[in-house]
Amino acid sequence: MNSYSDILNNELIINSLKAAVKNGRVNHAYIFDGEKGIGKTSLAKAFAKTLNCEKGGEEACGECTSCRTFDDGNNPDIFYIENEKGIKVDDVRLKINSQIMTRPYTNRFKIFIIKDADMMNVQAQNAFLKTLEEPPEFVKFLLLSTNFNRFLVTILSRCVLFKLRPLSQPQLCALLIKKGFTPYEADTAAHYSNGVVGRALELHGSEEFENLSRFALDLCVRMKSLDLIDMYKETDALKDKKDQFDTLLQLMYYIFRDALVYKVTSDPDRLIHSAHLSEIQKICADFSQRRLTKACDAIEYARRRRAANGNFQFTAEELFYSIKEK
Ligand SMILES: [Zn+2]
Repeated sequence: MNSYSDILNNELIINSLKAAVKNGRVNHAYIFDGEKGIGKTSLAKAFAKTLNCEKGGEEACGECTSCRTFDDGNNPDIFYIENEKGIKVDDVRLKINSQIMTRPYTNRFKIFIIKDADMMNVQAQNAFLKTLEEPPEFVKFLLLSTNFNRFLVTILSRCVLFKLRPLSQPQLCALLIKKGFTPYEADTAAHYSNGVVGRALELHGSEEFENLSRFALDLCVRMKSLDLIDMYKETDALKDKKDQFDTLLQLMYYIFRDALVYKVTSDPDRLIHSAHLSEIQKICADFSQRRLTKACDAIEYARRRRAANGNFQFTAEELFYSIKEK
């Protein structure tokens, strides 16, 4: 529990945290950056637990009073700072700045784990900066962020930044199977979550995802007979749901990719949607190999545009036009 062994595919980061502890060169502030669900909190917890472990080793012992109270969530020197609406200047003043002058109760360090730290507005960041400039030696800050570019340069320059990597497909698949997913579910969830564990777990059994999957498959199956206006109308409901449209693009990509794979190999075992073979066969019959390739490229391009915050309407129109274009 709360140990480095929970975190996969980020050995470089773990090794450098261990080395910092071993050499007595732990910085006073770290940023763990990466997508939601990638494991930032797990990493921060494992590190925080290690820093306060009474044995003082490279890894937490899991047995001392500090480790045990950490695992129970009762360690008096660990502070979780979060605010769903974004951490405000008052949060910084009350929950951080006013807390740092008193010494830890029982541990070596007072550790602040700050969630969505990059969502602090400028005022909050500036208030935090004052503390970060000259913190007492017994205070450590672990900042979690999804986009470190939102930090003021003055904050970045005082922190050690680590960017977490997602898991590889086989790693995530194996992990999901261990958690009780069937191989098909694990494979699908691993593909759609891009190696982000938290997202894969969230997708599993989610009604929203099930509905969207059915919608995507149905849309692709009917695509040949729909005209551009129909297609646009069908997806119009998603225009205000950025996450859903992005997931739809991802779903469509894997559906067309499956159709292409089936066209070339005729092997159902190679498909992500092997449970929907008849639908994949229909799409295969509707589109030539060249047009399936083109569709995959067009969807990939649309995903990149969306990642750069491209406008929904232009992206959708351009995508459907590219897929339909002879
Ligand atoms: Zn310990």
